[in-house]
Amino acid sequence: MFRRIARFFAAFVMIASGVVVGMGATAGAAHADECYTWSRTLSQGASGNDVTQLQIRVAGWVTSGERLSYDGQFGARTTAAVRKFQSAYGLTADGIAGPATFSKLYALQDADCTPVHFSYAELNRCNSDWSGGAVSAATAKANALKTMWKLEAMRHALGDVPLTISSGFRSYACNSAVGGASGSRHLYGDAADLTGSPSFCRLAQEARTHGFSEILGPGYPDHNDHTHVALDPSPYWSAPNCGI
Ligand SMILES: [Zn+2]
Repeated sequence: MFRRIARFFAAFVMIASGVVVGMGATAGAAHADECYTWSRTLSQGASGNDVTQLQIRVAGWVTSGERLSYDGQFGARTTAAVRKFQSAYGLTADGIAGPATFSKLYALQDADCTPVHFSYAELNRCNSDWSGGAVSAATAKANALKTMWKLEAMRHALGDVPLTISSGFRSYACNSAVGGASGSRHLYGDAADLTGSPSFCRLAQEARTHGFSEILGPGYPDHNDHTHVALDPSPYWSAPNCGI
């Protein structure tokens, strides 16, 4: 009798631990990944589309004024960005993108490849198909994705403070309706106007180390009620009231 009970409990423990292992495996599979899955470890010297996919996600982890290229070449600057990303999320900062780094990236991305705290809808409040701007709809949407990953980095660096976007991509029609500048980066999809907290000056200062080359904030005409960040090929920062 006693032995039968013992055997029953042993079987129960085995089943219970089997269930736990099963759940763990399921959670792992769900992470790799509806959006994009890396199939090899990447380090300096690697090249390919998998490097480009990595660059898109770590481009917000750069030094002041730096813009990471999305060229698919894993060079010294990509290594430095991966290191900064790893360090920001408590991983070993070796500059090599392996399983731990990918696992963190999977956790940070949604099925549509946007970072978890931002969405295409937030970056496109005026026309849902991304058409009618200065670039093709596909380019505008791709530019918005790159901007979102920089904002995700900035949000984390600020202490996981939610960032509010009041305007992103604009078609020409939408841009003139809101009184935007004629050559506005909003027409390209890479601009975001940030409102809410933290302060506009704090946002303008922080944006400098997250890959944004156009930063307009308090003291710049028409920018006292938001901070504008974008990727302009001709870098320009101006927020005179913030000392920028
Ligand atoms: Zn703007």
